[in-house]
Amino acid sequence: MEEKNKNNRTIPLQALNALQEEESMRREEHAESSSSGASFHSEEYQYFFPDEFEKGLHISEAERENARRLIRRGGIRLRQFYTGTETFSRTNEVLGEALFTLSDPSGYPVPYNLDMIFSRTKVIVSRCSMPDCIPREDSRSYLHRTLCVHETAGLLLAEDYLREHPELDATTPDMSRFMRDVESLRGTNLRHPEDSRRVMLRMEPLLSLLSSGTLLLSFRIGASRMYKIRDLEEFLNNMTRRQEMAFGKKTVLKMSPDYLDETSLQWYRFFVAARKADQSLRDSLADAGSRLPEKPDSIVLSGYTLDNFLRTAEGRTMQLKEPGEGSRQITVSGEPYSPHLDLKPDIHSETGALEGVILSGRLPRLFTGAETACCLAGDKLYILKEEMQEGLESLYQAASYQYRLNMRVGRIRMGEFYHKILPALRQIADIHEEDPDLINGYLPPEPY
Ligand SMILES: [Zn+2]
Repeated sequence: MEEKNKNNRTIPLQALNALQEEESMRREEHAESSSSGASFHSEEYQYFFPDEFEKGLHISEAERENARRLIRRGGIRLRQFYTGTETFSRTNEVLGEALFTLSDPSGYPVPYNLDMIFSRTKVIVSRCSMPDCIPREDSRSYLHRTLCVHETAGLLLAEDYLREHPELDATTPDMSRFMRDVESLRGTNLRHPEDSRRVMLRMEPLLSLLSSGTLLLSFRIGASRMYKIRDLEEFLNNMTRRQEMAFGKKTVLKMSPDYLDETSLQWYRFFVAARKADQSLRDSLADAGSRLPEKPDSIVLSGYTLDNFLRTAEGRTMQLKEPGEGSRQITVSGEPYSPHLDLKPDIHSETGALEGVILSGRLPRLFTGAETACCLAGDKLYILKEEMQEGLESLYQAASYQYRLNMRVGRIRMGEFYHKILPALRQIADIHEEDPDLINGYLPPEPY
């Protein structure tokens, strides 16, 4: 193709021959030494041929000296040379573009531009926007006119630049950027993240009840195996800085909220908010000269933190550790809760007479937050909604030590109790009646 079009060829014959020679050499070598690894001759390869740029431009020695003077006094500076511009490219050739900054004699940049586009062997387009240079011929037929002093200086600068940067080839700026970006991914395994330390993490809550009645929450984290978080402050720091954290002797996990699954992420958000609330509570207590015991591995569930915990935990099952007992699984339930109470005849042990009825039972342990409360009954931690709380409150107030209820109704007020109080009590509690037929015989008709 180059041979057919001799008058308009883009690569000088000599340079082209050298390239072709090198290519055939490389292919032979590759064929010989394909097993021992091919050797590269990048130093022999050249994309731009700056020595060819001035051919046919007829730059006089005086013009060249003028241009050098302009460069010496700082009137022109090469701002950028990049490959990949496609403007005016008739062939498939990647062109180079040079952008220059022009300055006035005092060294102050002027708002005029010089922009030159090069093929591998010559200047294709040059645009100097200095007022004295513009009203020339059409810039596209540039090759047939003389260069202004800025263009001559620009040409000299571009030549020097390309001689100093023989590594410049047809790599385009977008590819350069892309290569830089992709290189930074080396060493990570994006398709199989479980192979690296970027494993998906699970975060689980652990409840524990102190003998003082305080409910504490701590967390476990891990991938295949779960580890208790011993220092929540350190954990929070590692999470926010996306750092690695060691567990046990062998395990190192990379921490990041991004690696948490959906449920774990909800727990993490709860934890961050609780940590903040805990800190401000400690601060205000410290101001008042008091302090909370330091628990580096757990959060006290009280106030709004308990409310938030119940919101996050509803419907979920987790481990609970109780004082003097082992651990068991409990479910945080949003179902309505009713305590079980017994109602039985109060019969005198000596006379055998009915003296009234006894209401007894044991209420579950109650935990109160700012807006919600919960109670622990069996294998469930029941969330008590506001209207439920009101009814239960009177029962809790009537209870004695350890939430025990043991109240007697005398025989004279039995009618009042059965007709007025019991129907309301059934709304709050499940009542188990012992020997109801015996009691019915003593109840007056319903005048109340
Ligand atoms: Zn000019």
